[in-house]
Amino acid sequence: MNTKLIDFIKQLYGTNEFIPLHAPTFSGNEKKYVAETIDSTFVSSVGEFVTRFENDIAVFTGTAKAVATVNGTAALHTALYMSGVKRGDLVITQSLTFVATCNALYHMGAEPVFVDVSRTSLGLCPIALEEYLENNASLNFDGVCVYTNTKQVIRAVMPMHTFGHPVELDEILSVCKKWNLTLIEDAAESLGSYYKSAHTGTVGDFGALSFNGNKVITTGGGGMVLCKSVESGERTKHVTTTAKVPHPYEFYHDEPGFNYRMPNLNAALGCAQMESLVKFLASKRELAMKYKSFFEDTEFQFVDEPEYGSSNFWLNAVICTDRHSRDELIKTTNQSGIMTRPIWQLMHTLPMYNESKRGDLTNSEFIGQRLVNLPSSPLG
Ligand SMILES: *Cc1c(COP(=O)(O)O)cnc(C)c1O
Repeated sequence: MNTKLIDFIKQLYGTNEFIPLHAPTFSGNEKKYVAETIDSTFVSSVGEFVTRFENDIAVFTGTAKAVATVNGTAALHTALYMSGVKRGDLVITQSLTFVATCNALYHMGAEPVFVDVSRTSLGLCPIALEEYLENNASLNFDGVCVYTNTKQVIRAVMPMHTFGHPVELDEILSVCKKWNLTLIEDAAESLGSYYKSAHTGTVGDFGALSFNGNKVITTGGGGMVLCKSVESGERTKHVTTTAKVPHPYEFYHDEPGFNYRMPNLNAALGCAQMESLVKFLASKRELAMKYKSFFEDTEFQFVDEPEYGSSNFWLNAVICTDRHSRDELIKTTNQSGIMTRPIWQLMHTLPMYNESKRGDLTNSEFIGQRLVNLPSSPLG
């Protein structure tokens, strides 16, 4: 089976050379736009590409306002700050995620609380969320959701759309409403993914995208905060740009802001990448469907998009029967020059988060031991 898969992947990419997990594609105006910033000298914090890139993303996702940042972690950090997360607060998220999700809330002085994921979406499970809150939380006199034992405020819920597969947002949102919790979406992996007809990252009060080199499109490094209202978008822009009050020459700042603005040089790359996004998404879907039919009637279960939404298929994945078969698959493919990877180690097993509060994590552990990511760059 593993040799058949190796041949299949080499054939897909038409090469015997090393095949990475996800490589960026620069086939449009990337060089031209980047060169324009250099020719104009506006490579840094002033320049037109940032505004253009923000508008492109706002239009594509249908969000009220998008604010570009230096990376996705900074976008998450900003979204948490804008949501009023305070030192000592709790934020509910997944243990099955990339470490940036937890690091962002850690740097707000908040603590993660881990709730299980769904076996279909690989993202936060609304039933597990409701159950966790029923067992551990209560609403105080002011209607604020608190962790019953310690009276710590549970401020927000931050699901992550794993590998681009949308979580069940309606169900999660209704739990959030019942418990007065803010919904922040870690949409770092899901540019081009939709929950029903809504772009991921636009259902919660805030969403965060990443444009790291391995994501669907890249700005080298970069991120974006998706804001549900124009007003919150304007305040987000203000706090990510040192909270400077506009003035021709005076330096007056009205709160402790972040220096998270995306440089114009990176935004230029982003504008060019946006011109290819629809093409990348079509190509990634085509690739995913090829993997899907390859794995039909095998012992490997292909991770398909959930029926209520559409995925960007950022990273294709299969679930192996057990840990041994996972390790075999990873070993044989990598030895043949095909990059495959296990999923991230669960957050509650990392030293800095192993004391964190958590619910039952059966599905996270099941997936954690069996999932393998496959090469997913758009086909040429
Ligand atoms: C990529 C990613 C981020 C953000 O990463 P940056 O490298 O900071 O842009 C955040 N969360 C998840 C789940 C990611 O995959």
